[in-house]
Amino acid sequence: MRLIIAFLFLLALSVPAKSLPYTDGRLTPEIQVEMEKNRFFYPTLGQLNDSLKSLAQRHPSICRLDSIGRSYENRTIYCLEISDNPGQDEAEPELLFVGLHHANEWSSCAVPLFYCDSLVRAYGSDTLVTRLVDERRFWFIPCFNVDGYYYSRDLNHTAWRKNRRPWGGAIGIDLNRNYPGAGAGNANDTWGGIPAPSMASHNPASEFFCGPTALSELENRAMYDFVTARTFRALVSYHNYGEYVLWPWAWAITPAPDGPTIQSIGNELANMIVKQSGSGHYTGMQQGTWYQLCSELKDFAYGYARYTKGEPCYPFGVELGLSLAPDTILLAQISRQNIKALFHLARVIDTAVANTPRIVVAPRIAAVQNGNQYDVCWSPKTAGLANGWRLWEMMKASAVLDTFGTSNPRWVMTGFTPASQGAHSGAYCLVSNYADAAVTWARTEYPYIVTVADTASFWLKFDLELNSDVLFFEISRDGLSWRQHGRFTGMDTTWDRVQVPLVEYEEQSVFFRFRLVTDGDRYQGVFIDDFYPAVAYDSIVQYPGLADTFYYFEKTASGAYYYRVVGYNNQGTGIFSSLIRVDVTMSVAEDRTDIIQPRLPTVVRKFKPVKGVRVFNILGQEVPRPDKAGIYFLRSAQGTDKIIVIK
Ligand SMILES: [Zn+2]
Repeated sequence: MRLIIAFLFLLALSVPAKSLPYTDGRLTPEIQVEMEKNRFFYPTLGQLNDSLKSLAQRHPSICRLDSIGRSYENRTIYCLEISDNPGQDEAEPELLFVGLHHANEWSSCAVPLFYCDSLVRAYGSDTLVTRLVDERRFWFIPCFNVDGYYYSRDLNHTAWRKNRRPWGGAIGIDLNRNYPGAGAGNANDTWGGIPAPSMASHNPASEFFCGPTALSELENRAMYDFVTARTFRALVSYHNYGEYVLWPWAWAITPAPDGPTIQSIGNELANMIVKQSGSGHYTGMQQGTWYQLCSELKDFAYGYARYTKGEPCYPFGVELGLSLAPDTILLAQISRQNIKALFHLARVIDTAVANTPRIVVAPRIAAVQNGNQYDVCWSPKTAGLANGWRLWEMMKASAVLDTFGTSNPRWVMTGFTPASQGAHSGAYCLVSNYADAAVTWARTEYPYIVTVADTASFWLKFDLELNSDVLFFEISRDGLSWRQHGRFTGMDTTWDRVQVPLVEYEEQSVFFRFRLVTDGDRYQGVFIDDFYPAVAYDSIVQYPGLADTFYYFEKTASGAYYYRVVGYNNQGTGIFSSLIRVDVTMSVAEDRTDIIQPRLPTVVRKFKPVKGVRVFNILGQEVPRPDKAGIYFLRSAQGTDKIIVIK
């Protein structure tokens, strides 16, 4: 009931006033007359930007104009922050509302603009709006695809959908197909998957062209940086059309891990938005059950939050109205119905987030070393979340030129197999099965630490349907998010050597992957041979069930030792840390084969400095006087000792 009263109040407020809502005096008199008649219209890009600037200028106490970056044609992508004390981080839940990924879906821009205007108008008079603005941090990007909108709206190419960057003999990339994917660790969830029915494509001329690589577009890179730098608790991306409220996964039919919560919030939102016809409500559904789609914004935001950041985010998509640019006469109904869902989402999101179980995401790992003694330490993203840790020690790494045999201990693969047909060297090469409408792949099982001047190389021949079936060579730091370093399509049936410099990954642990995405026709497929560097470790020791976030080693033999760690809790095994390397060099006389058990740390209440002893925290940073509770390492000529300071 409170919501209804608040909404009626807002309606009363939103009757066009004498003063112009969208102008700071720069618009033509004709447009001003139009705008006075009707608050609901499709602004040109210039009018939109003027409106946002004007709101920020006239209401600096609750509005701040910012930008997430620039487009291919060098236009600013504006975002408007609405909150009390804008620009200040007050630990309030942050919500993001994004319009117009697709240039011809005009009302997806007009609706978020209406939100901005309405929140500002109602602040201070309406209790619900005032409370939400005071207790939440709202961000609005009404027009994400600025170049496309300018072309579609201002230049009157009304059907245009993509951005405006030329690539591969055509113009434009579908910006809602260019995100990295869900990052759930599944090869199918990555950018560039084209599940049937093909609403995504590798053909540059297609309306759904997903780009040459993930994040190939400046616009998507800007959104990626913006979303990953902040902690959004909810996100709504607006599109036209269909009168739907959608939620992740988009890439799969199976529900997302927080499926029941997403579903219930999504259905609540849908049930609030009355259809254009005046009867019935929007339909709520998981995107993947409508049609499957890879590398769109919802899945990226959800997956990144869950698997990489470890801070839940609930993203939704709304398909507004029943056409791409509904008659302006309908905009009032669409806008006023949808803002109810915004209020609801803003009200319930903190409770939903608080009740969301979290997985243990990858901790930072480091070693504090003194000769043959060292502590491997890790720092969880969220303290107290793990029930325990599993530390892996790997020894004697060998990076080899892999000529592929029947047994492939260095690779895990689905749909690729070693075959003896026309290998480049040896008897075997790696061959794709080339199934229809599938994602097949082979990836290195263990991480490899890139050394200086390393270059990945392999021999390749392929026969693929041009721009329908594409092979990617990819590299990942975390096994979740992959970057494309090679794109192969069409035909090249003589063996060629491909080389990929790894300079940007120096000293970092990485995985390599070949991934083939296909549609419905079969050619000969892909042949790969003589891959370098494929890594194998001679021995792997697991230290399970660790409660502490460090482990002490005292080595009696020289060598390179590698470590990675993973936490677990009631959500299962979490995400592995990166791999680190510890080099131990001992004189021959010192080398022994037995391993000394870890020393127990000393627990102290107050730290007293000792001459000649330097103190380091678990990240290896020197801390002269540790005044916080935690684990510290005392380094002296006698070796390293560990203390736990409690308060
Ligand atoms: Zn769209």
